[in-house]
Amino acid sequence: MDLARTDLYLDGRWVATSDGATLPVHNPATEEVVATVPAGTPADVDRAVAAARAAFDGWAATAPAERAAHLDRLHAALTARADEIGRTIALELGAPLKLATRVQAGLPLTVLRSYVDLAAGPPAEETVGNSLVVREPVGVVGAITPWNYPLQQVMAKLAPALAAGCTVVLKPSELTPLVSYLLFDAIDEAGFPPGVVNLVTGTGPVVGEAIAAHPDVDLVSFTGSTATGRRISHLAADRIARVALELGGKSANVVLDDADLVAAVKVGVGNAFLNSGQTCTAWTRMLVHRSRYDEALTLAAKAAQAYRLGDPFDPDTRMGPLVSATQRERVLGHVARGLADGGRLVAGGPDAPVPDRGWFVAPTVIADVDPDSALAQEEVFGPVLAVIPVDDDDHAVTVANNSRYGLAGAVWSADEERAVRVARRMRTGAVDVNGAPFNPLAPFGGYKQSGFGRELGRYGLDEFLQTKAIQR
Ligand code: NAD
Repeated sequence: MDLARTDLYLDGRWVATSDGATLPVHNPATEEVVATVPAGTPADVDRAVAAARAAFDGWAATAPAERAAHLDRLHAALTARADEIGRTIALELGAPLKLATRVQAGLPLTVLRSYVDLAAGPPAEETVGNSLVVREPVGVVGAITPWNYPLQQVMAKLAPALAAGCTVVLKPSELTPLVSYLLFDAIDEAGFPPGVVNLVTGTGPVVGEAIAAHPDVDLVSFTGSTATGRRISHLAADRIARVALELGGKSANVVLDDADLVAAVKVGVGNAFLNSGQTCTAWTRMLVHRSRYDEALTLAAKAAQAYRLGDPFDPDTRMGPLVSATQRERVLGHVARGLADGGRLVAGGPDAPVPDRGWFVAPTVIADVDPDSALAQEEVFGPVLAVIPVDDDDHAVTVANNSRYGLAGAVWSADEERAVRVARRMRTGAVDVNGAPFNPLAPFGGYKQSGFGRELGRYGLDEFLQTKAIQR
């Protein structure tokens, strides 16, 4: 299979980059280069933004039902490629094929379907006194996305932006660009008008910054690290452009004394280690009532040791490698620091066996983590769970909120009302009670340094609309 892609998608066509330079794409399970993609340039960004700007008026004026029909065709074109999408994400990210197919490929289709429905609905207008309040698309959107859920994070921007009537320039992560090529094959097949959706691959400092600083980009919608989000905010602030930031997290899984401990620990460990721990909402701090602490550690260690690491394409593999050598070194550095700061290793760690080849880290559980230490404060983005004892509900809330992040979290209790009371006090954008399922229509986004703006469902659509009052 020849995976190399040579072109960008600009103004409805596949076209060559301005200088022909390329970037390698690796298979993290073998460390081999499996493809190359174009390294876009600021000149390419100029062409993409010009195409999106030229297409905007027409697309914004399109009837909602017609936009919904385009999204519906895209859904069909992507569904036809679902298996290939799963395999591609397994290859370039290292996610086990089952996860890559069910979650990494499946969830974006669910999200896209929700926006087919939302796009077709009547535009939300209301009358306030003598004013007609109307919602209009914000304009040209620059979408910059990370590698950990490479299609889902693109879809969470692209689908609502297109449904709202915006046009888009996408820059996916340079670590996992291949799935975006499948997406744009599907976009091409769905027959969007030229310029409505554009793809420029390349690095963050070159292509990402050119998008964030571009005078004709009205909204920069970014998912990634807090450091990059800060940089993008600065670039957008110069021209008062809007930004939506979905950033990092250090979410707490609060296990109260009356919780179903077996479920709380099993689901909690599974959540922390999903996608090799490379999930922004991962519950990476487990806060357990002292009366259940030792029992919880035993269960957590057992759960971590049961993971089978290996080839993402082997059906028995439950955890793949990390995405890159850099990420692996970063994660191992966090583990070393956590142990040096007084954490107690109960599973995994730097010396635990991992496959010889590939950027693997063993699923690791560290107990007695000081809530102020680096391991409890920094986002690790690897399979590392910090366990912290707490005295009561108030203490649990204090420790949970002792973070500069505020993306997600969980509470477990036999008493649902008690759990909801604790959930209300947690300063985060989402909390799951007793392992409740993910809701693709619920607003998704952060408090504090986890960012602002919301994705998914009608809240996600709102990000791409602005409000006008017409007095009569
Ligand atoms: P990153 O910030 O390094 O990169 C994200 C994207 O930004 C990539 O496309 C990259 O090329 C681009 N970029 C890098 N530097 C840039 C710059 N100077 N200007 C413009 N663009 C630039 O993040 P990552 O390592 O790809 O992803 C991991 C991070 O993403 C984690 O911190 C994780 O928590 C976060 N994340 C957040 C969410 C969320 O929804 N809140 C979801 C997934 C990941």
